[in-house]
Amino acid sequence: MATRIKKTRTFSKGCALQVLGLPLPFVGALIGPIGSIAGTIAMLVLVFIGARMSTTWYCGQCGSPIAGKRTKTCPNCRAQFD
Ligand SMILES: [Zn+2]
Repeated sequence: MATRIKKTRTFSKGCALQVLGLPLPFVGALIGPIGSIAGTIAMLVLVFIGARMSTTWYCGQCGSPIAGKRTKTCPNCRAQFD
């Protein structure tokens, strides 16, 4: 049984996306209550996408990148994940 290794990159496109999304509720609030709600939703979407983009999974046996934590087998070395 091999293990999956999770790596979170701090300085990535995903992280930049999250930073970009943070002021959106405040920008939306300038327009009005609807803008504030829309800004909050947009921020949450950007933070969610950003978090997914900045997380990468690797095979614990050969170190090659894998699709995600639901991946059952390594495409490179065929190791089975638990
Ligand atoms: Zn592997």
